[in-house]
Amino acid sequence: MSDEASAADTSKPQKSERRTPSGEAEEVAPGILRIMLPIELPGLGHVNCYALEDERGIALIDPGLADGVSHQVLTDCLADAGLDITRVHTAVATHSHFDHFGGIARLRKLDTAQPVAVYAHATFGKVWRDAYDELLAGQGEDSASLETRSDEEVHDYLLELAGSLRRDTPWGTKTDGFPVELIRSWSDGINPIDTLRPPDVTHPVHDGDTIMLGGRPWTAMHTPGHADDHLCLWNGELGVMFGGDHLLPNITPHISGFSAYEDPLGEFFASLERVGLLDEVNLALPAHGDPFGDPSGRSAAIADHHHGRLDRIREIGDEIGNQPVDEYMKLLFRERSWGMMAASETYAHLEWLRLHSSAKRTDEGSTPHYRL
Ligand SMILES: [Zn+2]
Repeated sequence: MSDEASAADTSKPQKSERRTPSGEAEEVAPGILRIMLPIELPGLGHVNCYALEDERGIALIDPGLADGVSHQVLTDCLADAGLDITRVHTAVATHSHFDHFGGIARLRKLDTAQPVAVYAHATFGKVWRDAYDELLAGQGEDSASLETRSDEEVHDYLLELAGSLRRDTPWGTKTDGFPVELIRSWSDGINPIDTLRPPDVTHPVHDGDTIMLGGRPWTAMHTPGHADDHLCLWNGELGVMFGGDHLLPNITPHISGFSAYEDPLGEFFASLERVGLLDEVNLALPAHGDPFGDPSGRSAAIADHHHGRLDRIREIGDEIGNQPVDEYMKLLFRERSWGMMAASETYAHLEWLRLHSSAKRTDEGSTPHYRL
């Protein structure tokens, strides 16, 4: 890829997605503040929350993890910019991943001047919300006895429950549960379930809708691929787009095979193409990493990357014959990346090859095998 450091470079510059938070609000476009919030996820050192002020108060895009530390950084950075966090009236989640929506749980617990409206795509987090609600409902007897337990015992019970959710994947495995110690570190003072369960949406957004943020109209574009419910927002007059995780400056976003779409990679290619056609936009504000120009060029580069991966899978198929997703994953990814996300992405690529090329799928037992 063009953005990788050239072979002659001995010191590879750090990718901006990995940087730790600067601790201040930076104006990255007229009236748009970028606040880097702490997260520690593979390859990522922060998530960008964007703040826009209007006469009613503040709108935030992607308010980060549910973690209390993250909430404090957000509060302090807003205060340094002369903004009081209790003036937040709107939170937008670009998609239903917990590093983007978790902070909404804390915003909603604040004594804000007006209730915080939550904007997200109409399908936002539905599958996971339903799965958590079903899990809670299935606790009938257990949860009835909660009334007699101490707050601490209830908290511990909900921690275990939040971490226990496992769903079947379409490639014949189960999702991993979530590490309880991590949920514990995020859930001080709030319900542990709310750190992972996508929040209820007060204002469902559809492709093409206009929403007002910072006194300006922003057009929503539904961009499935990284997540089924991913949204980008753009304003032609400013030439700016909030890109969420759809376009990142240096790394390529994870493609989720865990999807309601038959062809998640195909959806991602279509989403890249649509964003690439937005001639009015010349500055992308991503959810991780520094703002960047030429989103159209970046869309094309990311699509190229995935076509390269498809070629690699064709070679792997020639070597290994009829095999399940995990066997392809082990040859496609380095060992340190093996796991649920790598398998999910591999599955999305194999399904694309089945639907658009010559891959054949047989479902042996409940585990699909692919031959190329
Ligand atoms: Zn993210």
